[in-house]
Amino acid sequence: MVRGVSLRASVIGIASLVCGACVGPLSIEYADAVDAGPPDAGSVTVDDGGAPLPPSPIPSVDGGSIATPDAGTIPTIDAGTLAPLAPPEARYHTFDEVDAFVHELGRRHPDRVLVDRYGQSASGRPLNVLRISDHVGVDEGEPEVLINYAIHGDEIITVECALALLYELVERYDEDPRIRAVVDDHDLYVVPVVSPDGFAARSREVEGVDPNRQFPYPEAPSRASIGIIAAAVRFFEAHNFSGSLDYHAFGQLVLLPYGASFEQPPTYAELMGVARDLASVAGYEPTQISYLFGEPAIGGSVDYYLWRGGGTHLGIELATEKAPPTSQIATIRGHATEMGLRFIEAL
Ligand SMILES: [Zn+2]
Repeated sequence: MVRGVSLRASVIGIASLVCGACVGPLSIEYADAVDAGPPDAGSVTVDDGGAPLPPSPIPSVDGGSIATPDAGTIPTIDAGTLAPLAPPEARYHTFDEVDAFVHELGRRHPDRVLVDRYGQSASGRPLNVLRISDHVGVDEGEPEVLINYAIHGDEIITVECALALLYELVERYDEDPRIRAVVDDHDLYVVPVVSPDGFAARSREVEGVDPNRQFPYPEAPSRASIGIIAAAVRFFEAHNFSGSLDYHAFGQLVLLPYGASFEQPPTYAELMGVARDLASVAGYEPTQISYLFGEPAIGGSVDYYLWRGGGTHLGIELATEKAPPTSQIATIRGHATEMGLRFIEAL
């Protein structure tokens, strides 16, 4: 969006640490220039060894131990007899693999997981949302929490963190009392890939724009937007979320609203309390979005959610690059999962 900004940004100390791609007005070109950035959009080589992504799917998805061919048999799966599902491998997964993984979770645990779609991308990819709770589908009046990943499709580490959180919430429910409490006491909605076309193309922008500048805002409340954001807005307006957490990469930051203004929201101190707790997991810094680059960013998700929903709305800039070496995936997943659990527990 804004080119030639690296000179200005370079005089702002924090700029060298953060993802210009995510919350500031800067463009991906800036991040590329400063940090050598992610691989080319067309490349599938993302690990430090330079090896191409393994073509194989998540092994346990098609492992054959789960009955899937006959749709009529799916609801009869007995959770007590399920073989354990292996955690997602520490590598970068394709959109189809992510899609298969989330549906596998839904098939295995239909009592706790509903895989729904709230729309589709311009290229026809599903906008998947997983609803997770102890009696999923039953309104028990529990706090609704929204967790989003990869509104910027090139920030692919976030999707790996989505798989990790989903695995924890769904597959470790029976063995971990903390997970059980988190799931039992909330109505969780997880969107593993907000921008599927961007993710598939390894691109920040879709339909020629930055998706995270396309949300309505008070001066443009019925703003027409690109399809994936219009769908996200409809989805949000149809719920009563107590809070939301958006994952980006990179910068090792916990982000607070506003992005569109240097003012602080009335609930800033409360938001900062949660942000500090999340940041302490891995030495991140709580930072107001608009101060990242000294310039407001209008039309971002966190501002929109706070404006329309009230409650607790934050973002996270994971890691130090958008596609860290595969050797770092496990550690970053651990941090991201712990931050997500703490966020849910705060609501
Ligand atoms: Zn981002």
